[in-house]
Amino acid sequence: MITPPFAPEILAEFPELTALGRTATRLHPRRATGQGAPRAGDSHVGGPLAWPADEPWPVCTRELRSAGREGRRHASPNPLVPVAQLWASDIPDLPQVLPALDGADLLQVLWCPVEHLRDVAGPAVLVRYRRAADLPADLLTEPPQGDVQHAGWIPTPCLLHPERITDHPGADALPAALRDRMPPGIAGGFVAPGWKVGGHPRRAGDIPCPRCGTPAELLLVITDHEYDAETYHWIPVEEQDLDWSAPDNGAHERPTGLRLDADLHLFTCPGCGTVHVT
Ligand SMILES: [Zn+2]
Ligand SMILES: [Zn+2]
Repeated sequence: MITPPFAPEILAEFPELTALGRTATRLHPRRATGQGAPRAGDSHVGGPLAWPADEPWPVCTRELRSAGREGRRHASPNPLVPVAQLWASDIPDLPQVLPALDGADLLQVLWCPVEHLRDVAGPAVLVRYRRAADLPADLLTEPPQGDVQHAGWIPTPCLLHPERITDHPGADALPAALRDRMPPGIAGGFVAPGWKVGGHPRRAGDIPCPRCGTPAELLLVITDHEYDAETYHWIPVEEQDLDWSAPDNGAHERPTGLRLDADLHLFTCPGCGTVHVT
């Protein structure tokens, strides 16, 4: 898919903003109608993972959040839900952020779709990374099913249509002197919405690794919408002429069917190799 250029005259007028540009890959998840459901060999959201048949499926044993019953845990370890799988060969910016992860070229994201104690709002995320060359021929075909608290935390299967773009910081992350000189309301328009690998966070800015203090790198943004009224200029060229009164056109704006309280940002630390979720 193709993102149309946004305000090139502003970028030309503010070279300091251009200098803050980073590449990112918009993933453009879209429901897999007509192309078949995603398979374990695909990059996707909400499809089957390439998971070794002899490797235990991850489960959650965290404490739950439930009124009046704090400290309660899952009745039995809860199998996680596949959220996304990204092959480095499909995602131009993934190889840049994976070197911290032991030379991996396959990223898998899962979560427990239940509210837990002490977590930020949202499901409890687990990241696995692998080398494709290490995968056995025998892959898991039927992962176990667990408890689900929110239907909006189960992604609708989507294939990806990756596109490399140049991403700029959000308004909150811009130097104040630059932000104040820009036309009102435009400063936040240069940071890409939707699912993306690399680039700039949608909020605040970069973070130091909580474990070792090294500046962390944005790995992945997980969100429940690809664009909205504030980010309409990020609608891909292919969807500029949609008939928004037609049934199911919301599936373009919210293809994954997720309902999250906030975007999830996954960072990698080049210093100690850990992945942090904020
Ligand atoms: Zn859990
Ligand atoms: Zn670190």
